[in-house]
Amino acid sequence: MNYKDQLVTCEQCGKRFVYTVEEQRRQAELGLPLIPPTLCPTCRREAEPRPGLHPGVVKWYSEEKGYGFLIQDDGTEVFFHRSGVTGDPERVLQEKAPVWYEVKKTERGPQAYNVHERE
Ligand SMILES: [Zn+2]
Repeated sequence: MNYKDQLVTCEQCGKRFVYTVEEQRRQAELGLPLIPPTLCPTCRREAEPRPGLHPGVVKWYSEEKGYGFLIQDDGTEVFFHRSGVTGDPERVLQEKAPVWYEVKKTERGPQAYNVHERE
C-alpha cells in the first residue's frame, strides 16, 4: 500500500497539520484503523485527554529509564512511566506489546496510565 502525507485540519484551532506516512504505517502495522488525528500536535498537547480505555501498542520501554512510549490508536505517541503499568509487567513492558491504556494530562503533557495487556 502507498501511504502519503495527508493534510488534516485541526478540529480545534483550524490549522492544517500533516498526518504523516509514519503515523499511517504504524497504525496499519498494528492492525489499527487508519483514522487521522483530529487535533494538531499543539492542541493535542493542551487537550483534555479522551476518557476511557484505548487500544495501543508499546513502541519502546527502557528498564533503565523506567519509562517508554506507546503508539496510540491515532498513530501518535504518548509517554508512559513504569508506575503507570497496572498489568503484567512481563507482558506489557516489551516492544510491540498490545495494551489498553488511559491518558491523563500532566504539566509535561499527556501521559498514559493504567497500562495493561490487551490480549
Ligand atoms: Zn490545533
